[in-house]
Amino acid sequence: MATSWNFVSQLLDNASQLFLGRSLSSFSLPTSLLGGFNTSSLASTAAAPTVAAASSYTLPHGPGEWPSPVGLSLGLLSVAVGQVFVLVWFYFRREVLKCSRFIQTEKKENYDFWEGVTTHLAQPEGFVLLGSYLSLTWMFNLMPASYYDMSGSVNWYHVLAQLAIVDALQTVMHYLEHKLSPAVYKASHKPHHKWLNPRLFDAFNGSLGDTICMILIPLFITANIVHCNVWSYMAFGTIYANYLTLIHSEFPNPWDHYVSYLGIGTAADHHVHHRLFKFNYGHLFMWWDRLLGTYKSPHDVKQFDHAVL
Ligand SMILES: [Zn+2]
Ligand SMILES: [Zn+2]
Repeated sequence: MATSWNFVSQLLDNASQLFLGRSLSSFSLPTSLLGGFNTSSLASTAAAPTVAAASSYTLPHGPGEWPSPVGLSLGLLSVAVGQVFVLVWFYFRREVLKCSRFIQTEKKENYDFWEGVTTHLAQPEGFVLLGSYLSLTWMFNLMPASYYDMSGSVNWYHVLAQLAIVDALQTVMHYLEHKLSPAVYKASHKPHHKWLNPRLFDAFNGSLGDTICMILIPLFITANIVHCNVWSYMAFGTIYANYLTLIHSEFPNPWDHYVSYLGIGTAADHHVHHRLFKFNYGHLFMWWDRLLGTYKSPHDVKQFDHAVL
């Protein structure tokens, strides 16, 4: 419990540095307001060893020097290996098991699997842009110092925080792309809505503007809020990129029924967004849509095959 509280304290401190340019501990609120409790005591007494270390990281390379590309390369490799698993898994379901449990009742056109793979991997707005973002932010020292630290191991609190925060930010950006103006929608997100009934390979098919608004900006803000080490960053990136792919599957994933009880987004949840546009703006989680009142259950959509959900 203490670790959770320390972690929240660290998150608040990082958010304060990002948005206000000052550490939370540099603010001294009136003691009359807080009954003698101020934020500097919060920051100094609540810091757990692992979290406190996060704010005191120093770069392992000197100023003006290029960082080692080892962490970056391992991260890209980890996402790529995850993609291989996703594609092998999908190949097995579609081509070997001949799965016909489609989420939507409308018949999916019988496309060629390898055409799908080629389209998926070659989209400039997908992995090319994402890979460029990861490489440039890493090599030009734009990531917080903790990300270059290769000591320790995966901190699952950090991974969960990154997933929750990036999805919250992505939900807001997604909502704004839909609602700001028809011109913004057309220029950014509309290409991804070409599919009312998407297939797994449409996950990253959209536009450069869409990827920048909905993925790169949330990723950059999240990195500046959660100061984790390179292993947690890798675990987060691998789960994030591959789960975004899986929720576009035209078949429900076998675990979807169970994870939906935790508010984790499923393929059917995301198909609701593609079919009806104005519900389920979240991707990884449905928490934000439930809070905003924009959640719609796949069971309430008449174009879906309720027997397979
Ligand atoms: Zn989508
Ligand atoms: Zn949308």
